[in-house]
Parts: sequence; structure tokens; C-alpha cells
Amino acid sequence: LQGRLGDIFDKLTKRGALSEADVNEAMREVRVALLEADVALSVVKDFVKKAKEKAIGEEVLKGINPGQMVIKIVHDCMVEMLGSEETAINLKAVPPVAILMVGLQGAGKTTTSAKIGLMLKKKERKKVLLASLDIYRPAAQQQLEVLAKQAELTSLPILFGEQPVAIAKRAMQEGKKGGYDVVILDTAGRLHIDEKLMEEVANVRDVAKPAETLLVTDAMMGQDSVNVAKEFNEKIGITGIALTRVDGDARGGAALSMKEITGAPIKIMGIGEKIDEIEAFHADRVASRILGMGDVVSLVEKAQETIEQDKAEELAKRVMKGQFTLEDMLEQLNQIRKMGDIDGLLGMLPGIGKMKKQLAEAKVDDKMIARQQAVILSMTIKERQNPKIIKASRRQRIAAGCGLTVQDVNKLLKQYQQTASVMKKVGKMNKKGLLGKMGAMM
Ligand code: GDP
Ligand code: MG
Repeated sequence: LQGRLGDIFDKLTKRGALSEADVNEAMREVRVALLEADVALSVVKDFVKKAKEKAIGEEVLKGINPGQMVIKIVHDCMVEMLGSEETAINLKAVPPVAILMVGLQGAGKTTTSAKIGLMLKKKERKKVLLASLDIYRPAAQQQLEVLAKQAELTSLPILFGEQPVAIAKRAMQEGKKGGYDVVILDTAGRLHIDEKLMEEVANVRDVAKPAETLLVTDAMMGQDSVNVAKEFNEKIGITGIALTRVDGDARGGAALSMKEITGAPIKIMGIGEKIDEIEAFHADRVASRILGMGDVVSLVEKAQETIEQDKAEELAKRVMKGQFTLEDMLEQLNQIRKMGDIDGLLGMLPGIGKMKKQLAEAKVDDKMIARQQAVILSMTIKERQNPKIIKASRRQRIAAGCGLTVQDVNKLLKQYQQTASVMKKVGKMNKKGLLGKMGAMM
């Protein structure tokens, strides 16, 4: 927006750009926070570098100090990194679709297998078969059987002495025969990564050809998360991550490490021991927790809202003085488009109740607003500030300038006049000190 009003808004909203020194200082704090959250060191370095590039030169909002601004940018950067991809479990394959669960021992594979099975049954009405390939830990296969019963899901009958690859084969055959949509294969873990485990899981993968290979990982995991993610991704190939124990105290830096290393989206969060304690991944929540600066983030978000409000109030003040011009209308249309919520914005402006109704009646949409803006934009500043001078020849020129018809220009001017006359009344009321009673009238 050019012109007077635009300048006022700029002064209201900006405090200048973030300098490299501002950013460096705040990043020291960010680095400590990330390390405390157990984000792996190499990931911290990469992430800080990326966030720094984003932050330098950004405008600082009014009411916010540079450090706070940096933290908000870092937060948004992290949300984007954690959650920019599809989080739905991929079932786009010929059924039975195999889901392979991999990870270290105790990560939560067996529990999460049952949770995902139950979720797919309940939410997507899928017929799910569970199969445990964990022949090493005593009673591991029975554990899945018990969980399957709780979830009222079928588990593949256990055959004593059968090897993992053979179990996987039988599970897929049974899946086909029994008309299952999904077969979830729960593999064995080890305390640490070893070659034998990887080889076995790779063989299972070749037999089952899973559409989804989920790395199950504990949110409380520390620096080791990088090695685990790397190994599993290189040897098996990961399509998604299931993050467990999100209900615990840990800040969950492992999520960021794993995502950065594998590039695979986090798809699922385990939030408790019970089989229905599972959620789709919420990047925003996890980012706030990793950064541990939720207060600052909401402070900045509030400031962003306040700026919208400041602009609205500034406009309202001008309205009160009876100074509503086409430039003001242009700004108003700008705000409407930006906020995408006509009710929300107009609710903040006194005296616009009537216009709000008109807009609603006219079924105002984004395209229409864009056309109205185009009309105003092809007027000269003089015309915008003094619409009375817009006579026939000017209307023709304006229409040609924005590629619309003279009727469109007429319509816009009529709408402006209606709005301006409402504004004038409001302004008069204000002068008579009737402002307090206005709420009731709108
Ligand atoms: P696996 O060895 O990878 O198969 O791990 P399990 O599924 O057997 O889980 C190990 C332990 O972690 C069990 O006691 C589970 O109840 C528990 N567990 C799994 N997921 C979660 C979770 O999201 N939150 C909590 N609090 N506990 C979990
Ligand atoms: Mg298990």
C-alpha cells in the first residue's frame, strides 16, 4: 500500500530488521535449548544455520524485542521442518497392504502395532491382521496376541519354532486368503543395532514388500537417535516415523534428529500405554516442546494479532473523523483478503455492521475482492482520495486500466458511497458522544 495510510501502518508495525548480531545472540539461547532437549549435536548445527539464514533481515514486530522475534522464526522454521509432509499412513497398494514396524527393543513397536491396527479399524474401517515376528524375546509373540484381543483385532496364530521370514510369508498369505486390507508386521528389536537384526529385517521387507516401513522410536531417546535413524534408513529404508512416549517428560529432541537424518515424515505419536493412546503427528506441539519457549512464541503471535488490530483501529479512527476514502477501502479489502475471515476482521471495526451484512448478502469471495481492489488500484491517488472527481471519462479510463467494465467501476463506486455514508453517520454519532451506544445498534 502506497501513500499516507501505508506509512502510518509501517511506523506502527515495524521496528527495523533483525541484524546478524541480534540473530547470533538469540541463536546462542536456541542452541542451548536444543541440546537440552537432546537434539543431536550435528542436527543442532544444521538447523541453527538454516534458521539463521531465515531470520537475518526479517522485520521485528512492534512490542517485541529482536530476541523474541528470532525465537518465533526458529519455531516456525522447526514446525515447517517437522511437519511439511503427509502424515497419513500410506495404504495405497494392492491389499493386503503390509506395514513393517522396525526399531530398537523397547521402543514401542508391539504396542504401536496394536495401536495403529485399532486406529485403522476404527477410523478407516480396515480389516487388519497383526503378526509378531519377534521370536527372540520370551513371550513377545503372546504380548501382541494379548494386545490384539484388547483391540478386537485378529493376530496370526503362533507356530512354535517358525522363523521371522517364514512368519512374514505366512502372514501375507493369510492376509490375502482372509481378505485383509492391512497386515502389520511387528519385528524384533535389539538393545543396539547389529548386523544380524538388520539382515533379518531386510529379508522380511523383501518378502512382505511393505507400503510403509515405520521406524518406531522413543521420544526420550538422546544423542543415539541419529545413529539409529541413519542405520535403519540406510539398511532398510524408512517411509515414516512413529514417535512414542510423547506423554513423558522428555522434550523430544529425537523427533527433530530423526526427521533431519532420514527425511521421513513423523506420522504417529504414542501418548500413553493404552491401545487407544495414539494421535496423528502435531508438528506445532512437538516444536514448542523441543524449543521449550512456548511463552515467547505465543507472545509474538499475540503481537501479530495486535498489529492487525492496530491497523483496524487506525482505520476506525479515520472513520470516526469522517475521512473514509477509497484508499481506506483498499486497505480494508487488503485486510479482508489477508485474514480470510470477514467476520473476524469486521468484528473489530466499529461502524461496519451494515457493510458486513452487505458483504455477506453479496456473497463476497476472494475473487470478487480482488476485482474490487483492481478497480481502486487503477485510479490515481487523487481519485482515491477524492472520489467525487471520478466522472464518466475517468470511469472509462479506470475500467480499461484494470481490464474490467465501466459497470464494474460503477458498482465499486456505489459500494464505496454506501460504506462511506454509513461511516459518516458513525462519525457523527461519535461527535455527539453516542459511541457507547453503538454496539447495540449493530
Ligand atoms: P517393543 O520392544 O519395541 O515392542 O516395545 P513395546 O511395545 O513392548 O513397549 C515397551 C514399553 O513401552 C511397554 O511397557 C509399553 O507399554 C510402553 N509404551 C509403548 N508406547 C508407549 C507410549 O506412547 N507411552 C507410554 N507411556 N508407554 C509406552
Ligand atoms: Mg515388541
